Amino acid sequence: MKPAAFRYHAPKTVDEAVALLAEVAPEDGRVLAGGQSLVPTMAFRLAKPGHLVDINGIAALDRLTVTEGKLVIGACVRHAAFARPVCDGPLGKLLTEVVRHIAHYPIRNRGTFCGSLANADPASEWALVLTALDGEVLAKSARGERVIAARDFFQGIMTTALRDDELLVEARLPMLAADTRCGFYEFNRRAGDFALAAAAAAYRVEGGKIVEPRLALGGVESNPRRIAEAERALAGAAPGDKAFRAAADAAAAAADPLEDAITSAEYRRDLVLAVARRALERAAAE
Ligand SMILES: Cc1cc2nc3c(=O)[nH]c(=O)nc-3n(C[C@H](O)[C@H](O)[C@H](O)COP(=O)(O)OP(=O)(O)OC[C@H]3O[C@@H](n4cnc5c(N)ncnc54)[C@H](O)[C@@H]3O)c2cc1C
Repeated sequence: MKPAAFRYHAPKTVDEAVALLAEVAPEDGRVLAGGQSLVPTMAFRLAKPGHLVDINGIAALDRLTVTEGKLVIGACVRHAAFARPVCDGPLGKLLTEVVRHIAHYPIRNRGTFCGSLANADPASEWALVLTALDGEVLAKSARGERVIAARDFFQGIMTTALRDDELLVEARLPMLAADTRCGFYEFNRRAGDFALAAAAAAYRVEGGKIVEPRLALGGVESNPRRIAEAERALAGAAPGDKAFRAAADAAAAAADPLEDAITSAEYRRDLVLAVARRALERAAAE
């Protein structure tokens, strides 16, 4: 099927893009980034935007920098950029591990980090990472700009705090201390599919005890979430099987898993046990 008719706009600057969005948002004007989610839904006529604001010609959005202790990821930075470490230390390494699980090679060459956040699929790996590390995004419109914390940004299945006339200009992840241990694990039936459940873990060890633990789940609930119960089970414990199993048990008990025609909530809860423990084990193996 071909998409419904739309008007195409190709701004060259962020200011032009947000001015255009202010104009076309009321007619279901949408941002076009990598097009890897939007274009298929248009082809199936599940989405019929009246206007597309293509941001791919905005050079300022194709930037990856480390500024004030944060990795800043511009809206046109593709998934593929993370195949090699984009920054020093554990963060760069974690992102190379995660990106391998996103879709397939051609999709990774086109799809963008920020597009995944804006699309807010419950199983988006980048949404999970942003949540696990308490990252943030910068949203801009003709009315001004605002910074939105990850915990406030994701608001449900494919639903975010972004307003129709806002451009997600960049995402920011905190750089991690050199001794941070990170682990990621996801389960899906075929390589390249969206995860049925995924976990991201990070912590440091001081005096043989876990400090600053983070454990977040993705693909389980309607949006990714840090699981406080699991983090409490880890804090102050010696890293190892006992603590990891206790945290995974706590995560499985705390999760409120999505259910669909193929995957029951109980099956997803079982998956949480596995992905949470394995993410923690991978962090320990770093
Ligand atoms: C077969 C297949 C498998 C996939 N598997 C995975 C997977 O395993 N994991 C995963 O995370 N993703 C997966 N994807 C999705 C892929 O990662 C997309 O690249 C991503 O979801 C959207 O990024 P995009 O840049 O292509 O955005 P687009 O498709 O261009 O846009 C998606 C939505 O976000 C909005 N948007 C995009 N950028 C911005 C912005 N800067 N500001 C405001 N709004 C914006 C658009 O208006 C649109 O509504 C898969 C896709 C396919 C086709």
